[in-house]
Amino acid sequence: MPIISAFEKELAIFSDKLKMSENIVIIHHYNPDGDAIGSSLGLYNAIKQTGKKVSVISPSQFPDNLRWLPGAKDMKVVGKKTQSDITILDGADMIICVDMNARKRVGVIQPQFDKSTAFKALLDHHPFVETFTNVAIADTSYSSACELVYEFIENTFLNQYFNTDVVTCLYTGILTDTGSFEYNSSNPNLFRVVGKIMEYGIEKNKIYNRLFNAWSEDRIRFMGFVTCSRMVVMPEYKTAYIYITAEDRRKYKEKFGDTENFVNIPMQIKGIVFTAIFIERDNFIKASFRSKGTFDVNSFSAKHFNGGGHVNASGGESYDKLDSTCKKFEELVCGEYAEELKNYIY
Ligand code: 5GP
Ligand code: MN
Repeated sequence: MPIISAFEKELAIFSDKLKMSENIVIIHHYNPDGDAIGSSLGLYNAIKQTGKKVSVISPSQFPDNLRWLPGAKDMKVVGKKTQSDITILDGADMIICVDMNARKRVGVIQPQFDKSTAFKALLDHHPFVETFTNVAIADTSYSSACELVYEFIENTFLNQYFNTDVVTCLYTGILTDTGSFEYNSSNPNLFRVVGKIMEYGIEKNKIYNRLFNAWSEDRIRFMGFVTCSRMVVMPEYKTAYIYITAEDRRKYKEKFGDTENFVNIPMQIKGIVFTAIFIERDNFIKASFRSKGTFDVNSFSAKHFNGGGHVNASGGESYDKLDSTCKKFEELVCGEYAEELKNYIY
């Protein structure tokens, strides 16, 4: 049974509004990942075929390994020039938000978003969804926003528009948000959806290759350096973290997206259940957290690092210096969370 069947009322409202709307904007969270881009473009490629006007707005730059996705070239990416474009959402009669649980996640275009009188709808799989849209279909049992978008299309008038482009985008987000079916993928519905996707004849191995075997030489050397010289392991607390200085980023000619997944490296050490990364950016420290099992990094980040996300994957930020941020993290691990982590069984 599709998970979406629990949202009969919302689905009817959402679908009716979509039918009536003529100018639809799809939007996702800033610093978008494969799921944000894949779910937006999957939906875009379906709606495009209805003849309605539809566009995807990305609130910030997106990783290079997603540029090949069908429709990626049509996306409006908010950059320095468009940031000040107060008309960016004008004319939209419907805004569909995907893969985001709070209005602040639209980043620099939040003023335009809040001002817009368009009907707003949400498709999401994060916990703690803020009420910021007219209708919301959100459930944490979905592995990814892409799995949800698949079910959304499947259960509305859009179902006649499934094609290889649509499902290629959706498969991409499923792969990236589950770490290629490693985590977040214990719901049988995911495999029902993936089974359906396969029937459209997607190039599964090519997609994998384009996503995960597409780094620059610099990035691979950067990863080696970081693993050797910037990883701190705290075995007693089953925790490990990585820190990266601005100088490190320069030295290894870091390009946007290069540090993606570095946070998962220490997770491969036997016994480690909690990992973090702290990256010195221009005006702040970008943090990411990952965990195995029930250790809740969403709450951890919300409480200590101004962020959030999912139970096992979250992001955050710090406005202290890099070394104070690392010190703060170590103190939390050895203090407030010490007992929980020391006794953690996974
Ligand atoms: P990342 O480590 O890639 O920044 O984030 C991991 C997950 O947490 C992603 O699903 C991302 O959307 C989410 N996330 C990252 N930062 C935040 C934040 O500040 N607030 C919320 N609600 N989610 C976040
Ligand atoms: Mn997601």
